Amino acid sequence: MKNNLPVILLKNLVLLPYQEVRLEINNDISKKAIENSKKNYNGEILVVCPLNELETAPDVEDLPKIGVVGVIKSTIKLPNNSLRVIIDGKTRIKVFSYINYFNDEDALECITQKIDTSKEDEVETTAYLRKLKKAVELFINNNASVSNSIMNQIKNIEDLGKLTDLISNFLPLTFEKKISLMLNASAVSRSKMLIKELYVENAINDIDKRLDKELEDSFDKSQKEFLLKEKLSLIKKELGEEKVQDKDIEYFNNVLSNKKLPPYILDKVIKEINRFSLTPETSPEIIVIKNYIDFLLSFPFLEESKEEKNITKIEKKLNENHFGLISAKLRILEYISVKNFSGVSPSPIICLVGPAGVGKTTFASSVAYSLGRKFAKISLGGLNDPSELNGHRRTYVASNPGKIVTSLIKAKANNPVILLDEVDKISRDYKGDPTAILLDILDKKQNNRFVDNYINEEIDLSNVFFILTANDETKIPAALYDRLEIIKINSYTSEEKLHIAKNYLIKNILVENGLSSMKFKISDEALLKIINNYTCESGVRHLERLINKITRKTIKEYPNIKSIDIEQNDIMKLLGNEKFNTKDIIESTSCIHAVGVNAYYGNIIDIETISYIGKEKTIITGAIGKEIKESIDVSFSYIRSNKDIFKLSEDIFNNKTYHINFRNADIFKNGPSAGVSITTSILCYLKNIKIDNKILFTGEISLKGDILRVGSIKEKLIIAKTHNITDFY
Ligand code: ADP
Repeated sequence: MKNNLPVILLKNLVLLPYQEVRLEINNDISKKAIENSKKNYNGEILVVCPLNELETAPDVEDLPKIGVVGVIKSTIKLPNNSLRVIIDGKTRIKVFSYINYFNDEDALECITQKIDTSKEDEVETTAYLRKLKKAVELFINNNASVSNSIMNQIKNIEDLGKLTDLISNFLPLTFEKKISLMLNASAVSRSKMLIKELYVENAINDIDKRLDKELEDSFDKSQKEFLLKEKLSLIKKELGEEKVQDKDIEYFNNVLSNKKLPPYILDKVIKEINRFSLTPETSPEIIVIKNYIDFLLSFPFLEESKEEKNITKIEKKLNENHFGLISAKLRILEYISVKNFSGVSPSPIICLVGPAGVGKTTFASSVAYSLGRKFAKISLGGLNDPSELNGHRRTYVASNPGKIVTSLIKAKANNPVILLDEVDKISRDYKGDPTAILLDILDKKQNNRFVDNYINEEIDLSNVFFILTANDETKIPAALYDRLEIIKINSYTSEEKLHIAKNYLIKNILVENGLSSMKFKISDEALLKIINNYTCESGVRHLERLINKITRKTIKEYPNIKSIDIEQNDIMKLLGNEKFNTKDIIESTSCIHAVGVNAYYGNIIDIETISYIGKEKTIITGAIGKEIKESIDVSFSYIRSNKDIFKLSEDIFNNKTYHINFRNADIFKNGPSAGVSITTSILCYLKNIKIDNKILFTGEISLKGDILRVGSIKEKLIIAKTHNITDFY
């Protein structure tokens, strides 16, 4: 059966049965075909796809002989005069011939002929139907972008032709493939094409899934690794070990390439770096190795400061910082002269002995400054563990080198001046005797091979300039004392303190407080008032603190002040009431005076004696120590054994209680030098002799009445002078 139908040509688009196309038609021929269809053919129209999609006006001869009959669902005229049309594809149909109505401006029509599908084998068709359904089911299941409802739609279709057309609808097919399907009238042949297509699509799907999985797996793995690494680095950060091993090795190698080391240390460092790189990151050993390499690399094995050799320049710098200290300065200049001459650092070791605040520490640092060497200080006060000096063995994480190694590391040079402060305060207990280590360190014959337990390699200390300090010469460990050259630094008189304050302390205070440009004037009277009534010390430390206080107070009160001018009358306002009044002591008449000094200051002590009938032998009061009690016993024994010489009767010792009282004795804990004063006090009481209160005694007395040697004479004289003592025995 043949039929006439208007024809519309599609470009770049294929309409298959059971599909829908939405077109926007501009050309008049197509518009006329649509009109014609709607008017004369119940909206039926043949949709044909020219084979050559690039041809704008194809020849009727070249048009395909198969098209799809569609029904126009709707048409809308758009404002731009084009026509929007929706066409539903119905069936494939053969074109018997195309007809051109030249009289009607080229509107195309055709004569169609139904396609005969009866020739196809039914069994074959069913087989393809099943195969196609299976393939498509797999495709839909694997393809999330294809809705599952499509499966319901096609599940019950038994018409292979219809099935192929429905499937072609949602398969991702190229334009050429769609045209082939459209032109192919055989359902079996189309299903073959589609099955092939679906196989390819399913295979692509499988590969795609496998790739996805692989990617997912690799992502999972790398993400897991990333997270673990992040965690590890956070833990390390918490532990303060942020750097990973590689970074450390890079750093070590960097330092190593810029540092000179003795060959035996270089070998050791390289070995340790290798050990470090082979040790697992999680091993506790790693930190021990890392610290060890750090110490080896920071130790100044070969770094040396250039030493000043010019004696005049050295002397000038030493004088810049300290007043007096003549013998100490002289000794340094001798030291350098000998070294310049022989090239060898002379022994013995210098030990500065003197009360606190007389400039021992600052003098040592001034020596370093004037020699152009670095300076380090090690406090020996209270030190009782030798390993504090020569380190702990590297057996546990917290072990460290000793103070000698760490101060050299701090100094960054192998020839600093190292001050070993307060050598008289070293103690000795079950941990060992630090003195033995000090002997090794200071012994010129062996200190070029000093071994610190931590570093565990020989270190050369022969370039180090050691200076020791002590307050009390008698407390320096005997073994050490032998090797030292003691240089005494005495207390300062008020005049010396005045000079030090005017020429050194004020300058230092202004520099320290950033006030170098400030004019600071303080009268001698004001300074002497501070020295005599506000301090009671051998050195100038407290005096320095008080001048500092005056400066701070004045600046605080007058923030814009340009110059400070202090007179004697200002002192009380600035420092409060006087703390010491030397006249008080001397006014007491019935006492015998003794004098006591310690590491910080000295004082006059008054000794009073009385007796009365009683059983007790002696009562002793006052803040005194064991040695004073012993002196009292010695005094009594001496007096009693010489009662005839002193014209004393034995009765005065029988049934008598003697009371000896020590006033202002807080400083006078020990020391036998009150012996003469105690004996004099007892004798004066017994003989009723009055002694001028301007006389001061000092000295140890023996049982035979010999007066023995005493120390700290300068300190005692200074105290005597400040207390208006005129006669000193
Ligand atoms: P020490 O170590 O003997 O206890 P310091 O060296 O700490 O004493 O000195 C205390 C303060 O006194 C420092 O500021 C120091 O500069 C100053 N000083 C001590 N003696 C002198 C001096 N002879 N010349 C200049 N300043 C001195």
